[in-house]
Amino acid sequence: MKWLKRQLRIGIPRSLAYYSFYPLWKEFLEKLGAEVIVSNATNRKILEDGIKETVNDACVPIKVYHGHVFDLAGRVDYIFAPRMVSADGKSTFCPKFLGLPDMVRFTDVDLPELIDVRYDCSGFPGGQLRFFISVARAIGIRNPFKIVYAALRALRKHKQYQGLLLKGFNPAEALQIIFSRQQQQGINVNKKESDAGRIKKAVIALLGYPYAIYDPFISAGIYDKLIRLGVEVVTFEQIPLHVMRRFSKVLPQNFFWYYSNQVCWAGLYLLERKKFIDGMIHVTAFGCGPDAMVDKTLELEAKSAGVPFLGLSIDEHTGEGGVQTRLEAFVDMLWAKQKQGRAG
Ligand code: SF4
Repeated sequence: MKWLKRQLRIGIPRSLAYYSFYPLWKEFLEKLGAEVIVSNATNRKILEDGIKETVNDACVPIKVYHGHVFDLAGRVDYIFAPRMVSADGKSTFCPKFLGLPDMVRFTDVDLPELIDVRYDCSGFPGGQLRFFISVARAIGIRNPFKIVYAALRALRKHKQYQGLLLKGFNPAEALQIIFSRQQQQGINVNKKESDAGRIKKAVIALLGYPYAIYDPFISAGIYDKLIRLGVEVVTFEQIPLHVMRRFSKVLPQNFFWYYSNQVCWAGLYLLERKKFIDGMIHVTAFGCGPDAMVDKTLELEAKSAGVPFLGLSIDEHTGEGGVQTRLEAFVDMLWAKQKQGRAG
């Protein structure tokens, strides 16, 4: 326990669940009085540091996560590394998420104390409350009023963030809005207005785990490359969970894993409305067990719906040039198909 006079510095690795929960974590920790420091954007050093300390067959996001933890070492009093178990009380995060704090703890790197508390929303809202209380206690805060106040502010921020993702903002844009003065001044930010008038070549469903799609280093910038190619991108975050969940009844068996289910349900939802999309890209992480099943399911479903499908596997050797060529070829094919359809 660290009873420090100065403000506690808590580091959050910019990886994995960061893309879904950062506003919740940041707001809660700040309202408890801590200073939040995020690791640097993924770069070659972060990746290589992560590779050195992880087992060979770990997926690239897990390797990168380790690199982000090491990036924070020496700069903070604690590293926030919760054990992500369940966000919806039904499915769990993949087994590598469950063991993550232990994997990090047993590396050879000298690390500050980890805030390793269980995030398990089974029995919601009790599960979330348990999480908040455990985090606060881990940094020596026991005042229930302070904890409840911080939790309510954090949940509000999380809701704002999710609302912006639903509107079509990517995580980087949404974070900028909610933690910038624009939001504080109550400026209404509407994605559709800002995008109005832009001519789009095609609409592509870009499916995959947020930490694979939105980390420009490990994904070789797939999201931004598609935007630059004039494509409108739809991701699973733009579909309300209760809408996607209807597709849990379509498959004979759902996956056990939180993100895998959402990616798959979103794919099925978009394929059912195939006239709104021109193609589907699934970004998979090499070495990911769940992805092997999700990718095959989406590929088969896209094929039977007649929607062009591209599976892109990323690993630590993924190069910008190769990704760019494959995306350009895919978008050109969709564009040619569209023109053919109009001519016919
Ligand atoms: S779901 Fe796949 S990519 Fe994500 S952490 Fe687990 S194994 Fe890695």
